Amino acid sequence: PNKHAVAPSELASYFGKQTCSFLQKIGAFADELQVPVYLVGGLVRDFFLKRPHKDIDLVVEGDGIAFAKQLATAFGGSVRSHESFGTATWANEQDIDIVTCRKEFYLQKGALPTVRPASIYEDLARRDFSINAMAIQINRSSFGNVLDVFQGKQALIDKHIRILHPLSFIEDPTRLFRAVRFGLRLNFSLSSETIHQATKTGAALHHISAKRLRQELDLLANEGVLFEGFRQLADLHVWTTLFGSRFSERAWRHMANLQQHGLNDGMFFLLAGAVDCTRLDVASRYALTKQEKRLVEETSLPVWQQLAPTASLGEAHRDLARISSEIVRFYSEAELPLSPLLRRYAEKRTQFKPLLTGADLLKAGYQPGPVFTQWLLEIECLQLDGHIATKDQALAWIAEKT
Ligand code: ATP
Repeated sequence: PNKHAVAPSELASYFGKQTCSFLQKIGAFADELQVPVYLVGGLVRDFFLKRPHKDIDLVVEGDGIAFAKQLATAFGGSVRSHESFGTATWANEQDIDIVTCRKEFYLQKGALPTVRPASIYEDLARRDFSINAMAIQINRSSFGNVLDVFQGKQALIDKHIRILHPLSFIEDPTRLFRAVRFGLRLNFSLSSETIHQATKTGAALHHISAKRLRQELDLLANEGVLFEGFRQLADLHVWTTLFGSRFSERAWRHMANLQQHGLNDGMFFLLAGAVDCTRLDVASRYALTKQEKRLVEETSLPVWQQLAPTASLGEAHRDLARISSEIVRFYSEAELPLSPLLRRYAEKRTQFKPLLTGADLLKAGYQPGPVFTQWLLEIECLQLDGHIATKDQALAWIAEKT
């Protein structure tokens, strides 16, 4: 038997008998159409590692969408296709993603590539790491044949993340983030050549779009390794390239606190770095929503310099009421003289229920106007300092004012 083949029984014990015979059925059908078809990518990696897989990804040499439609005609089910990517999802016994083997061209650094149909070898050669660049054929005559041109199996044994060619990171710098993520997930390390190339990525990093960079940070956060990921990316010079200087130990402690206390979000980590390097422009570049842009702006307000660490909660509220509670929490995790106050204030604010609302003032017969906002803020401050505790006391305070 071919030593680069896995036995059907091995596939059956990983996928389950039913899925395995379903794959065999697809393979036999593909034979009739003379379409080579393979399991590919992360799925093959997870199969060899005996880790649970997410979805079933197939690639075909030929038209993936047409093949998906032919499968649906023969076996039933429906097909959702994305013509521009040459991909389709065939929903039958389970969802199966079917992709046309393709070769990619990077016309612009960091941008999405242009694609054209290609052979399985070219398809594997465009991939990120050798552990993700293996395929297992499922056609009947070749069922279980392993295609491993980049020594992916050896990399699994060595526990190495290895790029396929020296310019890989320049071609697509998001691979730096992927490398770190897979390394942390699988407890693998980057091979020394891969580290060497990663640290040379340089200016190409500026071409990663804000959306893609943030997506990568979300993926790290979802796997619970945002802090470790940031650390490793620092070792690969990612942050010095993007921010122009190194993060200080204080910034790292800030990020560790953020992760520990629930602000486990790439945007806050970027903000921590930006505050440390005084490069809010960088954080601003990666803020995706209006709300995030606002967070960045709030980070630089003078209140953080003006507020006295010894202020009461009420006094703090007078300055901080208009600032989003996330930014208060963000700063409460920084190592500032102000932090203990902010921590107490942030905690209070999340549970805070004002005694009075504008509706109460209207009901009490006051004429609405900007003064309402002032009064309500004053009441909140007094309430936070424990000077008033009931709605009647609040109304009495206002009556005295007028
Ligand atoms: P996960 O277990 O996180 O889903 P995965 O390996 O399936 O991991 P995907 O992001 O779903 O990862 O990508 C599927 C496959 O596509 C990868 O295994 C890899 O071969 C290839 N791939 C994904 N992103 C890139 C990239 N930026 N450059 C090259 N190949 C990539």
